[in-house]
Amino acid sequence: DAYLDAIDAANATLNAYVAVTHDKARDMAKASDAKMAKGEGGALEGIPLGIKDLFSTEGVHTQACSHILDGFKPRYESTVTSNLWADGAVMLGKLNMDEFAMGSSNETSHYGPVVNPWRRQRLEQSVTPTIHLDEGGFVPAGGGVREARTLDNARLVPGGSSGGSAAAVAAFLCAGATATDTGGSIRQPAAFTGTIGIKPTYGRVSRWGVVAFASSLDQAGPIARDVRDAAILLKSMASVDAKDTTSVDMPVPDYEAAIGRPIKGMRVGIPKEYRVDGMPEEIEALWQKGIAWLKDAGATIVDISLPHTKYALPAYYIVAPAEASSNLARYDGVRYGLRVPGKDIVDMYEKTRAAGFGREVKRRVMIGTYVLSAGYYDAYYLQAQKVRTLIKRDFEAVFDAGVDVILTPATPSAAFGIADEDMASDPVKMYLNDIFTVTVNMAGLPGIAVPAGLDARGLPLGLQLIGKPFDEETLFQTAHVIE
Ligand code: GLN
Repeated sequence: DAYLDAIDAANATLNAYVAVTHDKARDMAKASDAKMAKGEGGALEGIPLGIKDLFSTEGVHTQACSHILDGFKPRYESTVTSNLWADGAVMLGKLNMDEFAMGSSNETSHYGPVVNPWRRQRLEQSVTPTIHLDEGGFVPAGGGVREARTLDNARLVPGGSSGGSAAAVAAFLCAGATATDTGGSIRQPAAFTGTIGIKPTYGRVSRWGVVAFASSLDQAGPIARDVRDAAILLKSMASVDAKDTTSVDMPVPDYEAAIGRPIKGMRVGIPKEYRVDGMPEEIEALWQKGIAWLKDAGATIVDISLPHTKYALPAYYIVAPAEASSNLARYDGVRYGLRVPGKDIVDMYEKTRAAGFGREVKRRVMIGTYVLSAGYYDAYYLQAQKVRTLIKRDFEAVFDAGVDVILTPATPSAAFGIADEDMASDPVKMYLNDIFTVTVNMAGLPGIAVPAGLDARGLPLGLQLIGKPFDEETLFQTAHVIE
């Protein structure tokens, strides 16, 4: 009830939820109460969670925040959410996101932007007399200049595509949330909201029932308020699944047990290629701070090179749209959601897709269709796949040489304003948000974003740790030293 009240009070301002399942939440909570009264109950019994609108939830709003899925309520439950409910978690509702998870600011949602609960601080200097007399006599009042910080009124993005998940967790509108990450959509919003987000190794979590964006890159993971919560949630979400043949049959470790293990002797790689041109000084300073913390905790810092890093973003923006154009072919007005009538079936397809998809989704479908076309396939798609292999080999070489984990900034900046002019006019500027995160998806590796400090305007900044395949434990262990 406390969480539902908080949502009802704050959602008109934050727009984090697109559907609130009041009745279902209370029913599930009652069932949890009954279980706990009998001394039963799972690892997440009674814990209220928000679910990204990309996860199929039986009989409940599931529209990937797209107009084309208008009114769609699946008759099945995603494997991830089934796992969470089996452990006793309670569903509060469905969370806002970029349409079909395409975006870095949550501004492509059919339901409008999510507002970051964080606000910038404005530094105001007010001049007071250099000296003044009070009862005690002569007081040099701080040199005469007093600094005051007030909140800036500009509304900021929470990042994307899991912007609703990150904002809801940061604003205490749920205890934790599900999210997905194709090129950074868990880690970048976590960094923008001072929360923890982990993208597990590709195959760790079943994709069944998660609306597909780019199937070879998509992975689900949690966003939480601390590393321990993220570890507990991932343990519940992860499983092998006969319904997703890319899910991997490996035991899911007790991630929580990794928290608090010393990192003495751990080898932490610092990739020189992540020191990109024009990176703000405060991001570099944050990175240095992270290095110092890990060193103080006994880790060995090693300089490494991932030479193909600079090709990751361009290759991602070929592979992801290619897969998206194929995955989104199913929205034809026949099987799901919206249908706009036409004079014949092709006309109906065209009208439905023209009305149902937003601008960013259309841009991706067009790019994807183009790079997969006969005559262009070899030049773009095949080339991007080769680059992807080289990126993966860069990481393999570094891990083979004895590096345990890699430390980088999570994003090249703190949260920016809603309707930021630069980003809105140039999609490539928006795509640059993912510069530190996409390589991880291209290589199928696990990555975690952990809050590490505030920028000069008081906004959260995050660091990223990248691990070996299926070594999420090392990420939790190391992230806990930073948090
Ligand atoms: N921002 C990236 C994109 O728009 C990544 C999105 C994601 O990870 N789902 O494709």
